[in-house]
Amino acid sequence: MICQTIRAGSECAFMTPNGCGYNGGTCYPIVEQCNGCQKVVELSGGRFCAIYPNPSIKWKNSICNMATHVKVEIPKQQQEKINPLKASKRSAKGKK
Ligand code: SF4
Repeated sequence: MICQTIRAGSECAFMTPNGCGYNGGTCYPIVEQCNGCQKVVELSGGRFCAIYPNPSIKWKNSICNMATHVKVEIPKQQQEKINPLKASKRSAKGKK
């Protein structure tokens, strides 16, 4: 349904005929970690995320998975390629 509050005119899954159905009935502004992300939109009420109604939740436990300005670093051990033949032999030895 079309938003009638913060993002007036935009399609939103939380909008209902009785108003915004999101927690508190509104979107929440971006948090400090969002600065630099391309999903930030400037609206009359402040700066908001284009896809998440409450950006602080996306940063609560880790890096926001949709952030465009930061990349998740994969530990080097996980980046090493595993030879499938050797891995197969290793697992076969382990089963005996
Ligand atoms: S996508 Fe994530 S980092 Fe970017 S503005 Fe939204 S909540 Fe913030």
